[in-house]
Amino acid sequence: MADLLVGPLRSVRTASGQQAREVNRRSVLHAVASGTAVTRADLARLTGLTRPTISSLIDQLVDDGLVVEAGPGESAGGKRPTLLAIDAGARQVVAIDVGTDVVVGLLSDLAGRPLASGTLHEPMHGDELVAALADLIEDLAAQASAPIAGVGIGTPGLVHADGTVVEAANLGWHDRPLGAQLQARTGLSVWVANDADAAALVEFGRLPEGRDGLALVRIGAGVGAGLVLGGRPYAGSRAAAGEVGHLVVVPDGAPCSCGNNGCLETVASLRPILAAGGFDLAHPPTDLAALLAAGGAPVRAALDLAADHLGSVVAHMIAIVDVSDVVLSVEIPGVGEALAERVRQVVGDCLLPRLAHDVDVRAAVDAEDLVLDGAHALVLAGELGMVRP
Ligand SMILES: [Zn+2]
Repeated sequence: MADLLVGPLRSVRTASGQQAREVNRRSVLHAVASGTAVTRADLARLTGLTRPTISSLIDQLVDDGLVVEAGPGESAGGKRPTLLAIDAGARQVVAIDVGTDVVVGLLSDLAGRPLASGTLHEPMHGDELVAALADLIEDLAAQASAPIAGVGIGTPGLVHADGTVVEAANLGWHDRPLGAQLQARTGLSVWVANDADAAALVEFGRLPEGRDGLALVRIGAGVGAGLVLGGRPYAGSRAAAGEVGHLVVVPDGAPCSCGNNGCLETVASLRPILAAGGFDLAHPPTDLAALLAAGGAPVRAALDLAADHLGSVVAHMIAIVDVSDVVLSVEIPGVGEALAERVRQVVGDCLLPRLAHDVDVRAAVDAEDLVLDGAHALVLAGELGMVRP
């Protein structure tokens, strides 16, 4: 499994005592959660910390309830070591996927097991949407049976690392300090990321060892990509890396919500694809078969046109940042696979054969859960420094 977020495991012994202890505590939690260390001896080897330091950190984590002693392990000659594990029930997490048409919230444990859920169906904007999100978070938090570690939110738009939504036109948010506003209202720690960036974290965690660059392209009401480069999420200098939806790909094409004409979104978002079958985003088909049954040839033509433009943009991304894996995330079952097949061909046609040959272009398997899973991952990484146990 590719390892992300906390980066190379390092101990800190030179920073201030408090900082060093926090970094070391996160390193230990990460190692136990990811399964790279299951005993105190493993942890000492992996972090370079002394056995007494490891023991003191583990004692604290056991007191906090995050780590449990799970019984004796295999002996390497002497006394049998005590196995360590994360208690997935020790904290709970609220994850929110802010969609343009529906908002989904989930309360789960640290392992992501669902405990309660809630949705907002009314299309809302601006302050009204923030107030409704706060209500949803408080409603889910009220059902928690363990302390809440934090709240993770995946939202469309440009999102700054401090939780400010710089621009999400469809939601009526401009320079909105969403994280700070929700934190003030709920008293919980809130982590906000762009939805494609959050989803990219999850897909990256699924890559085999040795592959360290991924683009996750979300195709929904708009089109946007989340990038992980060299094992790290890459936001760009203005939090806009991967914002490919408003690249003009058809000169003098159809008008776009941004004011330009012929943006990628006008040909490759779900809107034109669904419209070809007589559907819209608020009333989507159940799957590709239902879409094709309603639209037939026009739907096929819309899918091909979308894939041709997506393929060209994806090929440019690969040539510029050299990612090895491209995952297309579409929430209508079957549509991602249909697009991926042709995108793969276009990428092969557009790129230097050596660059194209080991690029993996595929559809996300459980696209409808990716943003929620990503929001959950934000809290685990940001609040606790760990991955899902
Ligand atoms: Zn546009």
